[in-house]
Amino acid sequence: MKRNIDKAAENHFIEKSDIVKILETNEFDEYLFHTADAVRKEYKGDTVHIRGIIEFSNICKQNCKYCGIRKDNPLTERYRLSSDEILLFAKHAADKGFKTIVLQSGEDGFFSAGNMTEIIKNIKRLDIAITLSIGEKNTEEYRAYKEAGADRYLLRIETTDKNLYKSLHPNMSFENRLRCLNDLKELGYEAGTGILVGLPNQSLDSIAEDILFFKKFDADMIGLGPFIPAPNTPLADEKGGSLTLALKVMALTRILLPDINIPATTAMEALHPNGRIMALNSGANVIMPNVTEGTYKEKYLLYPGKISVNTSANQNYETTVKLIESIGRHAGITHGFRKDCK
Ligand code: SAH
Repeated sequence: MKRNIDKAAENHFIEKSDIVKILETNEFDEYLFHTADAVRKEYKGDTVHIRGIIEFSNICKQNCKYCGIRKDNPLTERYRLSSDEILLFAKHAADKGFKTIVLQSGEDGFFSAGNMTEIIKNIKRLDIAITLSIGEKNTEEYRAYKEAGADRYLLRIETTDKNLYKSLHPNMSFENRLRCLNDLKELGYEAGTGILVGLPNQSLDSIAEDILFFKKFDADMIGLGPFIPAPNTPLADEKGGSLTLALKVMALTRILLPDINIPATTAMEALHPNGRIMALNSGANVIMPNVTEGTYKEKYLLYPGKISVNTSANQNYETTVKLIESIGRHAGITHGFRKDCK
């Protein structure tokens, strides 16, 4: 097994059956994590990029069965930030030192190509990179945001198992999700995708397929985390995913795609107080603190136990830098694109 992991780290290639074997046993986890950490150090150095997330609307027309802000959750108190508020939070983050702002929301139809492009253009004046994470749009909308200055886009495929995808996403289609991802690539975005680990009825075989999909798609970023059952959703009483399995999927992703950006995700910290440090030591090189101000964060509950809902944007930047320095790494001072390797 160790030889297989070494070979994968050398060639950035692995057979699906070997991925499954690695996922099946916990005996070689430490070796896998160390190897992914070494690959990260070789290709990305010790810089950790800090991206500030603004969760600007929790209004959503979709009904993803795992998600706490799905349309049919009557207990979600809905909110939508104004363009001025979004810009103000972005400005505060830029003043603090953030070099990237991630704009994330539910699929809120209010934000049309017109008002989104205005928001993007205004934020770009702050000389920071913009990542969008606002769901499925048509090609023309993606084009308009790109022309307005958006640099990156995050759209998780969630699972590449078509039947599972279908069962979790009423009225959505796997083909359209792929169309979106291909559009983003073609339009010149840095394109990020990822999955939920430990979904009900998700097999290790399908997770192995997911990892190979990341490689085939040549994703610029991969964000993944454990599935955490959210109250008032159809999956509320299901068993959640394990942090260890999510870390293993992440480590394998680093080994196969050595130069991409991989965040230590908040869902990982929700399951363990040191979850993000464990991720940074197992292949991750990005961290994404929340910079949404006021009480909005408490309402953007994709899953329970989301960290730092009670901390301010200022505290979040400082705490994040301290966390990075506590493990002998340093905060990035560039926009942190994939090609800015080290
Ligand atoms: N509407 C945007 C943003 C979605 S929220 C979009 O469609 O891309 C960002 C991510 O949170 C989702 O892609 C999903 O993978 C994750 N997420 C949602 N519910 C979750 C849960 N219960 N547990 C863990 N992660 C969850």
